[in-house]
Amino acid sequence: MSPATRSVTVLPGDGIGPEVVEAALAIIEATGVAIEFERHEAGEKAFKKGIETGVPQDTIDSVERTRVVLKGPLETPIGFGNRSANVTLRTLFETYGNIRPVRELPGVQTPFTGRKLDIVLVRENIEDLYAGIEYMQTPGVAESLKLISREGCEKIVKLAFAFAVAEDRHRVHCATKSNIMKLSEGLLQHTFEEFAPQFPAIEAKHILIDNCAHQLAMRPEQFDVIVTTNMNGDILSDLTSGLTGGLGFAPSANIGNDVAIFEAVHGSAPDIAGKNKANPTALVLSAAMMLRHIGEGKAATNVEQAVLVTLEGGIRTGDMAGISQPASTTDFTKAVIANLGQRSRLIPPREYRKIQMPVQQKGVRVVKAASRSVVGVDIYLESEMEPDKLAQNLQSAVRLKSVRLQMITNRGAIVFPTTDRQVSLVDHFRCRFVPAVENAELSDADIITLLQQVGGAHRWMHIEKLQQFDGAPAFSKSQVS
Ligand code: NAP
Repeated sequence: MSPATRSVTVLPGDGIGPEVVEAALAIIEATGVAIEFERHEAGEKAFKKGIETGVPQDTIDSVERTRVVLKGPLETPIGFGNRSANVTLRTLFETYGNIRPVRELPGVQTPFTGRKLDIVLVRENIEDLYAGIEYMQTPGVAESLKLISREGCEKIVKLAFAFAVAEDRHRVHCATKSNIMKLSEGLLQHTFEEFAPQFPAIEAKHILIDNCAHQLAMRPEQFDVIVTTNMNGDILSDLTSGLTGGLGFAPSANIGNDVAIFEAVHGSAPDIAGKNKANPTALVLSAAMMLRHIGEGKAATNVEQAVLVTLEGGIRTGDMAGISQPASTTDFTKAVIANLGQRSRLIPPREYRKIQMPVQQKGVRVVKAASRSVVGVDIYLESEMEPDKLAQNLQSAVRLKSVRLQMITNRGAIVFPTTDRQVSLVDHFRCRFVPAVENAELSDADIITLLQQVGGAHRWMHIEKLQQFDGAPAFSKSQVS
């Protein structure tokens, strides 16, 4: 290997992964760019060898060396591992930004053909419900923690704007569900609104995620870049893939400060695996994003243009509607190789600038509050009692004079103090205790005593302090009363 040769870790993956990865590697090789590919395992085979994370150590070592990965889809076989190998890779190397571009492609007919769609979805890739922190609070009630940090929001918002600048894009939407999840989803909205003025040339708009889905189906051409939280982004990006022809055409990049992982949005499509039927376009376009990332912009443009020319020439795989004589994966790949160097008649190459990655902060990120206080506590407990009886029972069990029971909720609805509840009840209650005297605070000693007294009468499984930061409540009011 010459000193100038770049190394890239290749994970062929599962299902159709090896077929589409081989297609991409053949096309890269044909561009003449010198890359040393280090092939490693992850996913199904690793799980079946007993590797709990689905990612063997030699794969991790290779990624640490090369810092660039081209990967096929990975499966978590049922009954193996407790985490997906994809999530392991994303969190291990903190590839916090998932960039998923889609655009109208020549000859790929969709209901939106002619609207010149060209949308990039920037999805937070580490936090949110996808951290997979889950508990059964009772045998019948499950909990999934949605943790969103100011740090995570800043990183993804800055990346979305940096990406918009690099591709000379003019509008960034931030899509959240901040009307309901005011604190978690709201943190992304507020961070977005705080940073947007630093980019006066870019129009910045907040949109509620449900309206965003509706608008994407009705008038998708209004969108340019969309930044959103992890789960919203996962769902919306499959939707945006569908607008332009389907999963077979949707590439993606998982970007971090040190490592970048390039892969198709689609999964392992086991129904067509090994049949030489898979559309390699998504993986090939992901490989083009990888080439651009490692500074091979000319080769990246050549690959993208060769794909466009191939589609313009009517060569298409069977996943496209109305194809009577589909090309095989290998035939499509050969056509792209033959078209390297040609330019599309319909879509000219885009100008790219190097993406200015946000500066990575060292050490523990602290967000300070000038003042803070504890103004109550929610205790979650399991009980078969009706709410009024439970309230009476708690009021007699709690002998601590400094607190009072303020309310009880069941499945999100207030069931005490109120008599006209409609909700069907389950044996899982959230019981809110607040100081007996208005504007007083609760000490940790109060909370521990309270917990002992409640715990003497009921099985509790979770508590949450109700805090105020800088005089503002740092907890949600109850949803339904
Ligand atoms: P999928 O693998 O994306 O496949 C869904 C369907 O889309 C396929 O059955 C196939 O439809 C079509 N399709 C997807 N990619 C295609 C391509 N390149 N060419 C032609 N058709 C394509 O989704 P899934 O069935 O939900 O997931 C299967 C497995 O993949 C699961 O184990 C999942 O966890 C994993 N997965 C991995 C990743 C990743 O590694 N990043 C992402 C998503 C899913 P037809 O029925 O029309 O053939």
